[in-house]
Amino acid sequence: MAAAFKTATVKWIRHWNNRLFSFAVEREPSFRFENGHFIMIGLMVDNKPLLRAYSIVSPNYAEELEFLSIKVEDGPLTSRLQHIEAGDEVLIGVKPVGTLVLTDVRPGRNLYLFASGTGLAPFMAVIRDPFAYERFEKVVLVHSVRQVSDLAYHDYLSGEIQEDEYLGELVREQLIYYPTVTREPYEHTGRITTLLNTGKLVADLGLPDLDPSKDRAMICGSMPMLKDISAILDERGFEISPNQGDAGDYVIERAFAG
Ligand SMILES: Cc1cc2nc3c(=O)[nH]c(=O)nc-3n(C[C@H](O)[C@H](O)[C@H](O)COP(=O)(O)OP(=O)(O)OC[C@H]3O[C@@H](n4cnc5c(N)ncnc54)[C@H](O)[C@@H]3O)c2cc1C
Repeated sequence: MAAAFKTATVKWIRHWNNRLFSFAVEREPSFRFENGHFIMIGLMVDNKPLLRAYSIVSPNYAEELEFLSIKVEDGPLTSRLQHIEAGDEVLIGVKPVGTLVLTDVRPGRNLYLFASGTGLAPFMAVIRDPFAYERFEKVVLVHSVRQVSDLAYHDYLSGEIQEDEYLGELVREQLIYYPTVTREPYEHTGRITTLLNTGKLVADLGLPDLDPSKDRAMICGSMPMLKDISAILDERGFEISPNQGDAGDYVIERAFAG
């Protein structure tokens, strides 16, 4: 039987704060995935592989594989993974999978990407997929975090991506980034559920209210977050993708167990 994972060399690591870091590993040219997929990542611990699911941050045409990780103080993997350095080796699964793929969302007007915490990770790949801008008029990335310093990729999303050689023009016209902070003062505050229920999100963006006949969504975050946002969409008449490969008005993936 073929091995379920391989080793990959760490190229760089960046710490956002004491709760979050990003890192990249070398990508084998034969490694293929769809934007929005996740893969198992890990380390050898006591001579045994310790693996956890990680969404792939980098788009599927990038040369390296990038990840965004939480640091759980007593977490079996992340208490160790947060100390990796360039040149170290990590384990990487050979089979990327997942439900947050653009092909499982019906075409439509505006695509809403609702992320909390590290749930941002798969959408970093989705927003760099030119197919997203072919299929939708606007791509609205809503990222909810507790504290301002948890806004990983904020400077990239609010500025640098607009200068990207290939995506810049699409992104300037069609991508809307809406960061919101729940436990500190910030330009936008409040949970995504509140922003949806009060209509504040669409009012702030000057967009029409979410309409199941036109708008689509992808959701990634904790189980309670998925449940709450799904309930709001269900109530408004949005249909979840029933199975992988069958398109719906929205798709979900849990980014962690909490
Ligand atoms: C499909 C899928 C995709 C995932 N993608 C990512 C990702 O891109 N980045 C990432 O950091 N994690 C992701 N996770 C979570 C990841 O698999 C691990 O749980 C995480 O790396 C912590 O591992 P651990 O062994 O240190 O602690 P664990 O024993 O796995 O977790 C301990 C506790 O920490 C909390 N926790 C775990 N992960 C997170 C998180 N991401 N944010 C907030 N609290 C958390 C939970 O309460 C959990 O019970 C994903 C999980 C799934 C199921």
